[in-house]
Amino acid sequence: MADSGSDIWATTGLPRDLIDLSADLFAVYDSDDRLCFANPAYRAAYHCDPAERRSWRDIMRANHEARRGPVIQTEKIEAWLMTALARRGTVPHRGFEAELHDGRWIWITETVCPDGRMLFHASDVTSLRSESRTLRDERDAARRASWTDPLTGMPNRRYLMERLEGWLQAQRALPDFGAHSIAVLDLDHFKQLNDFYGHAIGDAVLVSFCHRVVEHIRTIDLFGRIGGEEFLLFLPNCPVDAALTRLEALQAVIAEGPTHALQTGITYTFSAGVAGFAPGEDLHETIRRADRLLYRAKTEGRARVRG
Ligand code: GH3
Ligand code: MG
Ligand code: MG
Repeated sequence: MADSGSDIWATTGLPRDLIDLSADLFAVYDSDDRLCFANPAYRAAYHCDPAERRSWRDIMRANHEARRGPVIQTEKIEAWLMTALARRGTVPHRGFEAELHDGRWIWITETVCPDGRMLFHASDVTSLRSESRTLRDERDAARRASWTDPLTGMPNRRYLMERLEGWLQAQRALPDFGAHSIAVLDLDHFKQLNDFYGHAIGDAVLVSFCHRVVEHIRTIDLFGRIGGEEFLLFLPNCPVDAALTRLEALQAVIAEGPTHALQTGITYTFSAGVAGFAPGEDLHETIRRADRLLYRAKTEGRARVRG
């Protein structure tokens, strides 16, 4: 991992002085999603300093609270952050428009490398096509909604499948396919939890579960809800053995109980099945293998992972 902003430029030979002069915004987030480089334009727009090594989440939260930096139209910032985090870093490249509190509109591109480091670049597009901006904004919001599970704010099945199909196609074209895993997670005895505490608490547990997971997976991992109390976790560049270890660590986190202002004393567990991707295999078949392993985890007593 690059330790400081200056090392990045020393090793790449990129003209740091020009990037510092640029009106465009440049920043680099490390694989733990902490800001490790930002040029003056980025620092001014996002009110941050890479010397503090703050996480993207903290920077966004502070900006939202002070009503500065990027415009985030929500009253529920934590839920917004979790939804944004669930998507952040899960594609190698994406671009989108964003509004700043100072009145500017910027076109942002995010480039993520396989180890999870992210390059942020943005330029001022305030004067461009402003007449159709509302339309584009509404279109983007509708698209996001069609990808999002309304209860938890996580990517839904449709989004996961589209992303995974796209990823698989790109991966197959590479000379080395690599080792990647997919896990199907299912909460244990959730019907009992609903029956005992009520459906509203059940809903809150689902939301809490998602937030816990998103906080503990890597930037490049993709997580979403595929059914009632069933979830998918895609772990690129992670062989099955390592995925099992990660999921067991996640089980320990979940065992601490739900976050948020939930009734105390609630505990729950999940079971998971993990399958490795095979280059020639159909995505649905890989998921079916993970599903069968989940079933094994259930029949062998629940609260365990099988791969
Ligand atoms: P197992 O350990 O075998 O997975 O048992 P289970 O009770 O978790 O599984 P089962 O499939 O029997 O029941 C799933 C329950 O999840 C039943 C359903 O009411 C509940 N559920 C599904 N979606 C939601 C939801 O959005 N909110 C709430 N509160 N409950 C949900
Ligand atoms: Mg269940
Ligand atoms: Mg289930």
